[in-house]
Amino acid sequence: MSTLTDTEILVIEDEPDLRAGLQHNLELEGYKVMVAADGREGLRRAREGQASLVLLDLMLPEMSGLEVLKHLRDTGHETPIIIISAKGQDRDKVQGLELGADDYLTKPFGLSELLARIRAVLRRTQTGAKAGAGKEADVSGVMKFANLTVDWRRFTVTRDETEVQLSRYEAEILRMLIEHRGEVVSRQDLLRKVWGYVHLPTTRTVDNHIARLRKKLESDVENPVHVVTVHGLGYRFESTLIEES
Ligand code: CA
Repeated sequence: MSTLTDTEILVIEDEPDLRAGLQHNLELEGYKVMVAADGREGLRRAREGQASLVLLDLMLPEMSGLEVLKHLRDTGHETPIIIISAKGQDRDKVQGLELGADDYLTKPFGLSELLARIRAVLRRTQTGAKAGAGKEADVSGVMKFANLTVDWRRFTVTRDETEVQLSRYEAEILRMLIEHRGEVVSRQDLLRKVWGYVHLPTTRTVDNHIARLRKKLESDVENPVHVVTVHGLGYRFESTLIEES
């Protein structure tokens, strides 16, 4: 189990005041901090692989934040990344999430918001790693949500008395959404965790599987209540767990 003191954060930011401010405040919170002032240096440090999390500015000299992100993900580096972007870079932000960033913050942001995002991303990614090693422990057995009952032993869903079988991909997608219920799961995350790097289809594939999954889960696929679309970001499982056995 990692403790706060061995959690190292890499800050890739070219603006000196912001970089120094982030370093100072994160160190006060007990994190170890590494800094890089341009994209190339940032990529080099991120590749060393010591950082538990990367804060990545998008507009950087030498190499853009998106290029840094793409290089890291293309070479299999899974270090969690939070994009810190200036206002008006919404398209880049969405592209960043598509490329595999874990979250983003728009400048200017408050320290408490930054810290909350860092903790959430670390918690989510560390849980994800654990779930990968022994998934059955977290989401298993029979789970009941509103009018839905999911049976993980048989990969079936019962909606209003009607039982249907889930395909392997549908079950994996649903498992990931339920593990992160209440949070947005990006298409890129679904691709990485469900399909993996070896066999990487497009995000369109995710949408097609979500559509099939919804036919099984939702009474009205046009107005889904369990798996909702968060525009530009991904999907979120909304229903509350009522019973687990
Ligand atoms: Ca910048």
